[in-house]
Amino acid sequence: SIYGDYIKSVIRTVPDWPQPGINFRDITPLLQNSSAFRKLIDSFVHRYQDMELDAIAAIDARGFIIGAPLAYELGCSFVPVRKKGKLPFKTISETYTLEYGKSEVELHSDAFRQGDRILLMDDLIATGGTMLAAAKLITRSGGQVVETATIIDLPEIGGSSRIRDAGFGVFAVCT
Ligand code: 5GP
Repeated sequence: SIYGDYIKSVIRTVPDWPQPGINFRDITPLLQNSSAFRKLIDSFVHRYQDMELDAIAAIDARGFIIGAPLAYELGCSFVPVRKKGKLPFKTISETYTLEYGKSEVELHSDAFRQGDRILLMDDLIATGGTMLAAAKLITRSGGQVVETATIIDLPEIGGSSRIRDAGFGVFAVCT
């Protein structure tokens, strides 16, 4: 993408966090840098401004940081996809497996109208499990996932291939 190399240069890698052997990609230096944050949001605006989206669905919690300003800029709805137990109204949920154990994402049952054009966002794709569960949830609720978008894709882990194999497009600002 246009600012990919620059955005990558302001992401910090923290070794051995949250566990030994994990290299955590920390986006807080990118958020602290106002011109980098603007370029990040502009990268998404550039890609999605003519796609006639109805809503941005973003994943709890770092997805919210990029999804909300994009929804504001594009003039479309914002829908939070949350971790289990956070949404107060009637929900639908999708369970997925992690390396150790399970996780669950939820959506309000009235989040979309049938056929709404949805962009699904999160900050990072590793195994793709989170994004894929959210994409399935949106599809089940009658929304059309136009594409999935992320700041960082870790292609060697294979998540983005898995998402594409399931029939959803993937846009990453950097890899
Ligand atoms: P996946 O489900 O693709 O294996 O993991 C992606 C999810 O875990 C995303 O919601 C993302 O926020 C979080 N995640 C996993 N590893 C990292 C990381 O290194 N950096 C950041 N910022 N998020 C991560």
